[in-house]
Amino acid sequence: MDRSASVLELKGVGEKTAKLFGKLGIVTVGDLISHYPRDYEIYEEPVKIAQASSGKVCAVYGAVTGILSERRVRSLHILNVAFSDGSDVMHLTFFNMPFLKKVLKQGGYYLFRGNVQVRGNVKLMEQPKLFSVEDYRRQMNRLVPRYALTKGLTNQAVQKAVRQALSFCSFEEEFYPPEILEACGLMPEREAVEAVHFPESGEELLRARKRLVFDEFFAFLYLLRRNRQVSEGLENHWKMFETADTVRFLEQLPFPLTKAQARVWQEIRNDMGSPACMNRLIQGDVGSGKTILAVLALLMTAANGCQGALMAPTEVLAAQHYETVQEYVEKYGVCFRPVLLVGSMTAKEKREVYEKIASGEANLIIGTHALIQEKVQYKALALVVTDEQHRFGVRQREHLAEKGESPHILVMSATPIPRTLAIILYGDLHISVVDELPKGRLPVKNCVVNTSYRPTAYKFIAGQVAQGRQVYVICPQVEAGEMEDLENVTDYAEKLKSALPPSVQVAYLHGKMRPGDKNRIMEEFSAHSIDVLVSTTVIEVGINVPNATVMMVENAERFGLAQLHQLRGRVGRGEYQSYCIFVSAKEDKETMERLQILNKSNDGFFIASEDLKLRGPGELFGVRQSGEFAFRMGDIYTDAGVLQEASEALDRLLRRDPDLKREENLALGKHLEQAAADTVDFRSI
Ligand code: ADP
Ligand code: MG
Repeated sequence: MDRSASVLELKGVGEKTAKLFGKLGIVTVGDLISHYPRDYEIYEEPVKIAQASSGKVCAVYGAVTGILSERRVRSLHILNVAFSDGSDVMHLTFFNMPFLKKVLKQGGYYLFRGNVQVRGNVKLMEQPKLFSVEDYRRQMNRLVPRYALTKGLTNQAVQKAVRQALSFCSFEEEFYPPEILEACGLMPEREAVEAVHFPESGEELLRARKRLVFDEFFAFLYLLRRNRQVSEGLENHWKMFETADTVRFLEQLPFPLTKAQARVWQEIRNDMGSPACMNRLIQGDVGSGKTILAVLALLMTAANGCQGALMAPTEVLAAQHYETVQEYVEKYGVCFRPVLLVGSMTAKEKREVYEKIASGEANLIIGTHALIQEKVQYKALALVVTDEQHRFGVRQREHLAEKGESPHILVMSATPIPRTLAIILYGDLHISVVDELPKGRLPVKNCVVNTSYRPTAYKFIAGQVAQGRQVYVICPQVEAGEMEDLENVTDYAEKLKSALPPSVQVAYLHGKMRPGDKNRIMEEFSAHSIDVLVSTTVIEVGINVPNATVMMVENAERFGLAQLHQLRGRVGRGEYQSYCIFVSAKEDKETMERLQILNKSNDGFFIASEDLKLRGPGELFGVRQSGEFAFRMGDIYTDAGVLQEASEALDRLLRRDPDLKREENLALGKHLEQAAADTVDFRSI
């Protein structure tokens, strides 16, 4: 079967299931095969309730002894069931599953698996999963894949479909020459894909992962190398000099630049006036103040009568930048004539913006990847700044080069990485580092707690809101049903509304909302008509609301520490003392120790590396440490070693065969060209 065959070709997949798959972006059999598990679970032998310890996920087998209560809190249906196995009793709580009342028979025996909590002297599980004993036995002591799901689609259904797809699907012939396969110890692609879905052991899983991550990095680095040839030594057609505009703007700003900012600003000015085109990366931890540097470069461009573009990875972030700039125009009278261009605008709105860009009426274009679509014709594009997403930059530079324009390039990144890694990943860019935070920032206070701390946290949140501050609460998933045991944004927002005083304005935000709605919510939060924002990690990148002082993260155990560090960077951006509350649903020693690392350091790279030391093979999946590079599976922290290997292998190869023209490298060359063509891989949030 061809990879491009529809999932409908699979047995047991009808119109309805195909539609659900569609919601996950899975249309073809190939899509299904590359729908890798989010993580793996090991189903252990069921335990006696008396032995079930708090904070651990385990299975219990016993009888339902009665219904304790059934309530409704706003739109939330809550069912409480008593359960016993002779050793002890346990309470089971189910949200929005009213049908269970009929399914669960009093006196009937059932197997449940969930996270054990203790309240007072009662053991309980919230939203545990129901299994038939045979099903459970079959999966016991294996690594069972867990997939990203959507309402109506079960994990079992995905597993079944993936198994079928794997047995039918054909794979490309091996494209690496034997030398690379051997030197890097790569297993065949087919084996790797199979083992990633259904690993026999943790060791096999790691080897499988390595092959797939290697493939991804290798293709990415190839694109980078090719790009370097294009951009190296490009002549500067846009020689620019500083005017009074930037000087005046700096004088009007309410704060002086930090030393680090001033140094980087000098580097940018030098670049833009030099004989070669600027190709620069600004690296700086969250909150170090990179935006203002972009604004300065863009202002210099506008003042020189040219156009500048600022690209952000999300519409929300683009809209925020647009507002900031508009404020500068109103307050300081800077010479920007900005327009916003994002995918969710109507065709008519876009057309109007295109016209302004083509005529030169707009001298600052802010937006998402819509900016590089073919229809956009610039009058005099002299500078392109990309914020918070480097990969984005790589492709986009190619696109612009294809259009015959070679603007200055400035890339901003908040991903903290050491120099050796930076040279591999940003090989084609000069690197500036903003290694200093603005003065007067109070360090964020952190705490790591279990779920029983919630009432206290809510009181604290209410207190901060009463003082005029704002709050983020992060949940790992959008709606119930994707992963049963995790908090989700929609239900949590309801729960929170009932836990907080009615005067507190609570709203929610997630990536599946319509772009217009997302922007509206973010604007309302910026304008402080929302006090508490319950959100997925869509707010992770770039959002700047200095009045927000509390970041509460639910299921913190599910996130990589580097990602938690980025989330933490959303607070502590203003004059107020800020707080992070990491709530872990797991309380075992390892989890708590891991999360405590965040307390010890503010150095993103240190945090990410420490994190890795404490993880097991099954845990390396589903944990995205840095979203910035948008790799499917690879992670620059987790897989720093593979990145290094891929880079060395590629260098060896290109030294011997720069154009991949030798017989043994032809297949690889073809594969890489295809991979490069497929790389238009923008995040849709
Ligand atoms: P990031 O580097 O994470 O993109 P931002 O550019 O969004 O950070 O800046 C974070 C906050 O710090 C903003 O509110 C910005 O106005 C402020 N800021 C930037 N530079 C300085 C400075 N030199 N002194 C004081 N505040 C600053
Ligand atoms: Mg930023």
